[in-house]
Amino acid sequence: MIQKPKGTYDVTGKLGLEVRYLEKLFASIMEKYNYKYIRTPVFEASTLFHRGVGETSDIVKKETYDFKDKGNRDLTLRPEGTAGVVRSFIENKMYADSNQPIKTWYMGSMYRYERPQAGRYREFYQIGVEVFGDTDAYTDAEVISIPVNFYKMLGLKNVKVMINSLGDQESKEKYRQALLDYFKPYLDELCDDCKERYQKNPLRILDCKVDKDKEFFKNAPKTIDYLNEPSKNHLNDVLKYLKAMDIEYVVNPNIVRGLDYYTQTVFEVEAFMPSLGNQNVLCGGGRYDNLVKNLGGPDTKGVGFALGMERLLEVIHNENIELDKEEVDIYVVPMDISCKDKVASLVQYLRLNGFVVETDYINRNLKGNFKQIDRLNVKYIAFVGEEEISKNIIKIKNNHTKEEYQIKFEKLIDFLDDLEVDDHEENI
Ligand code: AMP
Repeated sequence: MIQKPKGTYDVTGKLGLEVRYLEKLFASIMEKYNYKYIRTPVFEASTLFHRGVGETSDIVKKETYDFKDKGNRDLTLRPEGTAGVVRSFIENKMYADSNQPIKTWYMGSMYRYERPQAGRYREFYQIGVEVFGDTDAYTDAEVISIPVNFYKMLGLKNVKVMINSLGDQESKEKYRQALLDYFKPYLDELCDDCKERYQKNPLRILDCKVDKDKEFFKNAPKTIDYLNEPSKNHLNDVLKYLKAMDIEYVVNPNIVRGLDYYTQTVFEVEAFMPSLGNQNVLCGGGRYDNLVKNLGGPDTKGVGFALGMERLLEVIHNENIELDKEEVDIYVVPMDISCKDKVASLVQYLRLNGFVVETDYINRNLKGNFKQIDRLNVKYIAFVGEEEISKNIIKIKNNHTKEEYQIKFEKLIDFLDDLEVDDHEENI
């Protein structure tokens, strides 16, 4: 038997319903924010990630799926969504659009060659947002509010927003020097990767999984102490807007994020769920004011985040949150095989009028149909037999109260509308 590749999973059955529910809920939130959907390729030129996400991040250095296609091009399966969206922003000249800022959202699979464990896959699904333009701290707060609102609407209880600032380029450079000075005496004690990080990007030392528990890490300089005035003001403004939005947060100087492109605000939303271990970060993001320029575009600021589906689903299951409200409005029962054309026409008519309709596909007898109705969450049953056809009526039964009605075919939709049968999407 051929099995799925390591670190991947299938979405089937109940999981399929849950995933679709989450995607629809997120899409409906994005409509309210007036963000526009964007879809970019799953693979891109390798240099995009190696230049954009940063040569010194583990994600790019060790975890990308790189390959050559038959035309000898160097391609990479995207390990994250931002670089592709930025590439698209530049290539499609979205910066020239008079309607600024450009507010986008996306969802799709990402690929990282990591050690699979709870909440960590090699193919995983992210939903994310990127905003481009000359935006101020309000946008950082708005972007943070999106996953917060999403989790709130889902009823998640134990989630916490962690926020930090890396500062602007000037502050980042001052901080970089402070890290170099601090870690110099400990160079021999750092792991081989960190020795390299020390040379290329000392900030990355701080999220080293090997060294992070070493005693001398505890007193390492904190980004927040190296912010210049404009950066401090930016952070304070973000916090002010979060307060105004009634969003709770913790300023956590240890948040540096795993990708190289961030400036100023960085944030994560964490779940308190011991079984997820270190994989309890549900969502991460921040501001990247230099990335568009670094990738060859005009000097344009950006803010964004990405959240993972798998960890979210783990929390949803752990908190026993029921998402899948699978409901069938009407199950149409053919009383005899000779009536199937009338059934086909009725099913088509009802679906075109917006109802969720099920019917008999495998020529069950009446008892078999009732058994199937018991398996599904059916609101109304419609019976179509010779007698009904000859009288041009449909027999309808409320599957919960067992009340029965005989309705003229032409009156059927009005009748069902009056009963508010198709109210199942109202929560979304
Ligand atoms: P990142 O792109 O690393 O900032 O991650 C953003 C979010 O994507 C994380 O908070 C996780 O929810 C999710 N995520 C990242 N890597 C993985 C992975 N290997 N498997 C599952 N989810 C992931």
